[in-house]
Amino acid sequence: MEANLPEKLARHLRSRVREMVADLRDLVVCESPSLEKTPADRCCALLAAKWRKRGGRVELLPQKHRGDHLRVTWQPAGARTQGQLMVLGHYDTVYASGTLGKMPFRVKSGKAFGPGTFDMKGGLVQALFALEALQALKIRLRKRIVFVWNSDEEIGSDSSRKLIETEARRSDAVFVLEPSLGPRGLLKTARKGVGEAELIVHGRASHAGLAPEDGINAVHEIAMQIARIEGWNDLPRGISVNADVIEGGTRSNVIAERARAVLDLRALRISDMRSIEKRLRSLRPVHRGAKLEIRGGFNRAPLEHKVTAALFVQAKSLAAQMGLSLGEATAGGGSDGNLTGALGVPTLDGLGAVGDGAHSRHEHLVVRAMPQRAALLAALLAIA
Ligand SMILES: [Zn+2]
Repeated sequence: MEANLPEKLARHLRSRVREMVADLRDLVVCESPSLEKTPADRCCALLAAKWRKRGGRVELLPQKHRGDHLRVTWQPAGARTQGQLMVLGHYDTVYASGTLGKMPFRVKSGKAFGPGTFDMKGGLVQALFALEALQALKIRLRKRIVFVWNSDEEIGSDSSRKLIETEARRSDAVFVLEPSLGPRGLLKTARKGVGEAELIVHGRASHAGLAPEDGINAVHEIAMQIARIEGWNDLPRGISVNADVIEGGTRSNVIAERARAVLDLRALRISDMRSIEKRLRSLRPVHRGAKLEIRGGFNRAPLEHKVTAALFVQAKSLAAQMGLSLGEATAGGGSDGNLTGALGVPTLDGLGAVGDGAHSRHEHLVVRAMPQRAALLAALLAIA
């Protein structure tokens, strides 16, 4: 690697910060809720246009119900490349159309506010400019780069999962543009796996006064099951299981025929994820005659530290060359990085914006960090 490449990239990118903010504004004012296809498609088309200006093969992958997904392949001209790197992002946000009216895009005291600035349109902009910087400085790339940006990360990535997994399998490393953590911009080198399961109990209704012996109380049954499930929690180990919703029964004087619980499942290790799923499937009724039905399970497997560690060491050393001390953290929530990491593909997450307030009214990113983080990504793409 060229001496001081990260610093050279950072210097170039600092001179582009105005343009970065302008692109961020374009993307934020083009609202892109996961659940609204028409506006999401508009944002996808805008991203595609921004890519076309920079070159690369731009493909819109049409979706029936969700926004289209975007895949951009950058094959450096004239260079023989070996292998592929993937830059993974999502352009959907959790904000419904019209949110901009209440939280408009604005830059104040060095921070850019607005829906999706931090999670993760800032990260997308950084990636656009990372590639542009590599082009402008004529840095030779050793690998083909594929940018996959989907429209449904915030709702579980059902329509994009295949695409993400296919490209990840072809890649030597995956860089994820999710926001970093905290004011120091920690990278995410582990993420819990996340799931949702539904436990439904079928009992038998009966008159609570006239024929209690004929009833099978589904509420009693589910209460006992939940007490059992609560015992699976092991917070120091990163396992949490929570019944977040319960419902059951119809009215007083009637023994409850049906009850239902929605469980939030989290685990830090793939083996723990498997054992929780197994325990769920092997639940048996306590009350004679009650029937249990289990649906769902983990949606994203844990991103284990072992698949991120080596890339983090690289990132840390590149950041140090820019005078930046880079830290790491574990996140309790999942991202699409969990999908690629579960395949065993080295994955580094949290390479996006520095800021705060994801999914909230005060969502923002720190403008000064944009060129820095873009330079870090560019340097990783140049050496990985
Ligand atoms: Zn995100």
